[in-house]
Amino acid sequence: MRKYQIIKTRTPMPQQDPHERAHNFSEVALGYTEEMAIKEANRCIQCKTRPCVKGCPVEVPIPEFIAKVAAHDFEGAIDKIKEKNVLPAICGRVCPQETQCEAKCTLGKITGSRPVAIGRLERFVADWEQRVKDIGEFDEGTCVDLSGKTKVAVIGAGPAGLTCAGELAKLDYDVTIFEAFHKTGGVLVYGIPEFRLPKKIVQKEIDNLRECGVKIKLDAVVGKLYTLEDLEEQGYKAFFIGVGAGLPIFLNIPGIELNGVLSANEYLTRVNLMKAYDPSYDTMVDSGKVIAVLGGGNVAMDSARTALRLGAEKVIVVYRRSEKEIPARREEYEHAVEEGIEFHFLRNPTKIIGDEKGFVKEMEVIKMELGEPDASGRRRPIPIPGSEYTISVDLVIMAIGTRANPLLTQNIPNLKLNKWGYIEVNKHMQSSIPNVFAGGDIVTGSATVISAMGAGKEAAKGIHKFLQGKLDDS
Ligand code: FAD
Ligand code: SF4
Repeated sequence: MRKYQIIKTRTPMPQQDPHERAHNFSEVALGYTEEMAIKEANRCIQCKTRPCVKGCPVEVPIPEFIAKVAAHDFEGAIDKIKEKNVLPAICGRVCPQETQCEAKCTLGKITGSRPVAIGRLERFVADWEQRVKDIGEFDEGTCVDLSGKTKVAVIGAGPAGLTCAGELAKLDYDVTIFEAFHKTGGVLVYGIPEFRLPKKIVQKEIDNLRECGVKIKLDAVVGKLYTLEDLEEQGYKAFFIGVGAGLPIFLNIPGIELNGVLSANEYLTRVNLMKAYDPSYDTMVDSGKVIAVLGGGNVAMDSARTALRLGAEKVIVVYRRSEKEIPARREEYEHAVEEGIEFHFLRNPTKIIGDEKGFVKEMEVIKMELGEPDASGRRRPIPIPGSEYTISVDLVIMAIGTRANPLLTQNIPNLKLNKWGYIEVNKHMQSSIPNVFAGGDIVTGSATVISAMGAGKEAAKGIHKFLQGKLDDS
């Protein structure tokens, strides 16, 4: 039996220099080389209890794929990952591994050192596959023909919808995805910026799905262009709703109507999906000199780092709690700090002030202190009376959260929603309408890529059982 040596030091990830990368949209993390991946894989002690697998929402066989990397069998490693995860190049880059699989790693626990870099290894293996199997442009002719099989409609091409569609195609259903935008990928393409998740990576993962026979209809807003009844008349027997929760929330303070106040959603969509980052495109985007981003999550980090890359002189993140409570992934926060983003903690905006032409000029903020924990378990921020002051800004980006868009859900009679407008589902992801399933952010509210994928996968199982007349709703 192989003896495992404890290697405490985690193999560092090569990355672009912070000063250089703050001015370009190329990927920040450059990925492991083969030697680095094998070295890191050898840190895994192949513990029998495999707690990392339980920490992964889709239960990737982590020790097994890592053992294959250590043995230089990258083909075997990708096959192992794909038993459970159809979008590994994406998950390896954006999953919050530090709170999921890596948080449970035995090596990290017994040695007090950093856990095995599971996400980086997953990314390495997925990139290796894309590199060696690069067969050029997607070719419709390579698709599996599923026509004539039972038809299922998937609404929304984000991670939930894409995963559900991929799983259903594997089960031999004739699946069509209806997507409102002109691009597939959901937040993966319109939210998460190029420097964190290159669009070509997402596109290749989507091409893999299309090769499995999944059809995609773009510019197809269900609830506006088609109702579910229209689709039923076209022969669809079951539905999966994965429309996300992309309706932005604005702070209710004076001045939000001014020119130069916008939601992170609009800002990132203009930059990412409409390519405002590419000088050869004419897409308009405000690129103020001093930009304030409100919020402390991944969306705030992405907006701030995008603003810097678009040429802002100064970018300030204003967050009402302290550094400790910041909800963004630690790595994204640290990257933002390295790139020169300023963080104003324990501050909350109270007013946005405009000039005589109606453009943002200043923002009034109030200092905060932390009280007792609230329902979320985090200490409640409390304003300190009389501590207001103003800062000069010329663009304010609100990244304080999103909620469910009622466009589709309100147009489906008898669809049960909770008080926040999210779809209620049972353990099979089945809604109050038997042939309508749902998952991802439209069920949970804003969450993660991997949880949306996990939901898409569960829903595919539920749809399969339902169509076979074997769904047990106990
Ligand atoms: P979405 O990804 O929102 O996809 C929904 C799709 O449905 C969209 O393509 C939309 O156009 C389409 N649609 C909507 N309405 C209709 C309709 N009526 N008809 C047809 N199509 C419709 N998570 C992480 O795990 N790690 C991260 O680093 C991370 N960073 C993030 C950064 C940003 C800027 C944002 C906004 C989110 C981030 N998240 C991150 C969260 C994660 O992206 C989401 O939880 C995840 O994408 C939800 O997947 P989904 O499939 O439910 O919805
Ligand atoms: Fe390897 Fe850590 Fe998973 Fe154990 S918990 S199998 S050491 S990655």
